[in-house]
Amino acid sequence: MIPIIKPLMGQPEADAASRVILSGWVTQGPEVAAFEKEFAEYMGAEHAVAVSNCTTGLHLALLAAGVGPGDEVITVSHSYIATANSIRYCGAEPVFIDVDIETCNMDPALIEPAITPKTKAIMLVHQMGMPADLSAIVAVARKHNLFVIEDAACAAGAEILWEGEWEKVGRCRGDAAVFSFHPRKIMSTGDGGMITTPHADWAARCRGLRQHGMSVPDTVRHKANTVIFESHPTLGYNYRMTDIQAAVGREQLKRLPEVAARRREIADQYKQKLAEAQWIGLPEEPAWARSNWQSFSVRIPDSCDQRTVMQAMLDKQIATRRGIMCAHREEVYASSPLPAPLPNSEACQDKRIILPLYHQMTDEEVSQVADALIEATR
Ligand SMILES: *Cc1c(COP(=O)(O)O)cnc(C)c1O
Repeated sequence: MIPIIKPLMGQPEADAASRVILSGWVTQGPEVAAFEKEFAEYMGAEHAVAVSNCTTGLHLALLAAGVGPGDEVITVSHSYIATANSIRYCGAEPVFIDVDIETCNMDPALIEPAITPKTKAIMLVHQMGMPADLSAIVAVARKHNLFVIEDAACAAGAEILWEGEWEKVGRCRGDAAVFSFHPRKIMSTGDGGMITTPHADWAARCRGLRQHGMSVPDTVRHKANTVIFESHPTLGYNYRMTDIQAAVGREQLKRLPEVAARRREIADQYKQKLAEAQWIGLPEEPAWARSNWQSFSVRIPDSCDQRTVMQAMLDKQIATRRGIMCAHREEVYASSPLPAPLPNSEACQDKRIILPLYHQMTDEEVSQVADALIEATR
């Protein structure tokens, strides 16, 4: 069986987890602090705040932006439902705009028509690890005094051209970027997330909110030689990351450059092997984007039925996934504002198929998948 993804974890991660377990400090302690520091350094970000997962991280970033009941946040429907959910958690409403049919990312031209007096922020998604058009989106946001939050769940290791220089997604040219460390993503801590931000006050607010809104972090109280009483000035949450997760994350971060490079290699192989089948739409990087190929998705011809193609692949022991879901098609978002129809988002869900791609994949396996896809769509 060729699976859609295989996590790349081994002895270094097992040793790291074991070290923490035997150390006596297992949550939000020194390992979390070290992971935050190393992650910020790698991304080139000013601040990094570790959280329990990407969804809670998005929630905190929105709270740091002051998003609350009655506000609107412009985002895409074409994303995992967690993107929209994090907006609803604040009592705000997601306003869904369409994506570019090629990149599956937010179309910056559609932002302005969707702005209302209630609009507070834009939440873009670097979908499947392909960087969105951040500079265009930030430009519109600055013009209208809106915050920019990047759902970078899939985008660790992806790169973006900013004012002529390549830098990491997570350098954070908006106001916050949030990553996921779920096992489906390019690096994993089991579950986990990380917020990066250029704003010291946002980082401080997120640190307080992730720990029940407490005025004093555990780390400070632990080291103090005078007695400290904590207070709880605001409603907080338990969105902590454990030190066991953080220690695993530090090992995964060390692997990230190699993992991203290998994924780019496999994506190139797919493109070569699928080039002969001109009816299959291959993903292309815009001039300003370097994907980490967290997911490699191809467009099948309109005449092909998605389920039939996926079944034909499964019959050959090859796992695939359909295109990313659209939140506006789910009952829970049936009443959310849609400034315009979303034909590209729906086409990206219905006419795309995600192919297996993992570090350990052999040339032979890549060929097997490509051949099976060509046969199933011919
Ligand atoms: C996976 C994913 C999330 C959710 O991440 P969790 O860490 O599971 O909360 C959010 N947004 C996007 C785009 C994702 O792919």
